[in-house]
Amino acid sequence: MSATEIDFYELLECERTADDKTLKSAYRRLAMKWHPDKNPGDKEAETRFKMISVAYDCLKDPQKRAAYDRYGHAAFQNGGPGGGQGGADFGDIGDIFESIFGQAFGGGGRQQARRGADLRYDMEISLEEAFHGKKTEIEIEVSAACEPCHGSGAEPGTGARRCTMCGGHGKVRAQQGFFVVERTCPTCHGRGEVIEKPCRVCRGEGRVDKPQTLEVDIPPGVDSGTRIRLSGKGEAGPFGAPPGDLYIFLHVKRHAVFEREGTTLVTRVPITFTTAALGGDIEIPGIDGERLAVDIPAGIQSGKQLRKRGAGMPVLQGRGRGDMVIEISVETPTKLSARQKELLRELQETETGDECPGSKGFFERIKSVWAGLAE
Ligand SMILES: [Zn+2]
Ligand SMILES: [Zn+2]
Repeated sequence: MSATEIDFYELLECERTADDKTLKSAYRRLAMKWHPDKNPGDKEAETRFKMISVAYDCLKDPQKRAAYDRYGHAAFQNGGPGGGQGGADFGDIGDIFESIFGQAFGGGGRQQARRGADLRYDMEISLEEAFHGKKTEIEIEVSAACEPCHGSGAEPGTGARRCTMCGGHGKVRAQQGFFVVERTCPTCHGRGEVIEKPCRVCRGEGRVDKPQTLEVDIPPGVDSGTRIRLSGKGEAGPFGAPPGDLYIFLHVKRHAVFEREGTTLVTRVPITFTTAALGGDIEIPGIDGERLAVDIPAGIQSGKQLRKRGAGMPVLQGRGRGDMVIEISVETPTKLSARQKELLRELQETETGDECPGSKGFFERIKSVWAGLAE
């Protein structure tokens, strides 16, 4: 086991869905149990006490917990996901974490096999799916622990014997000048044992490629760039070591009507110039499938933005929804009948210029410019 494999929830003996109260009481109970005062001189108890403190420190903070749920321990490493960009600020929790967990399981003893690799799976979803969330299944071919040998790599019925090269320590020592250097045993690759007879199915590897169907639960509010972690669904570890994680990378497809800016949905709505002048009610589709009534005030101009509160995208792992912004563009008619043209001419004859103050003001300003040019 290494620092990267200890699950915070397992440390606190809680479900991943545990609420704050449950976490807190679990932490109190375990902190009491492993407290150095209660276990004087017990190094392991002290380490465990430190670890549960770090785990609880992370999970009690909603922001850190959300990041941990999404990225696992990667949330604390190398400044967080994406090199710190967009990730929560964890201060030095990463360092503390590494030093305690690394110390506890990295040094001394037999070296454990490395865990399996993390995998990436890209998934495209529609904006509607991002809105509602989605439960879906994916099929992937992933290396899984070999069944006949249970991942050990040894032919069933045969065993493994202690490595004679390192005496089962997984490490060999060599003198280099003044120093004694410890290296991973080249014979058993650190496992401390060697297989007598390799498994025929996996040829001694302990894992085989296998198609798997996995359930993916996409929460409402995800966006392009959101990653969903399926813990332990990555590649199987070599020789029965723990598996890696599978990360689902989400991509939200462009929508025909809506543009998304965070939780805000923007839609451009062309209206007729008569509706713009007289005002009126129009209906537009909402992302939730409802019809949204929009009240157009008389005299609205192109570019004006109307806002529908709470008609945007849901907040990921939060409450409420963003807004919908409706940007109005006034469309000048291009296909008029003879009768319509006649009516418009009639309208034109009644114009005094005061109907459109913007236009009137502009031409008055031009007049003064022309007058200046004439001097
Ligand atoms: Zn060895
Ligand atoms: Zn096998």
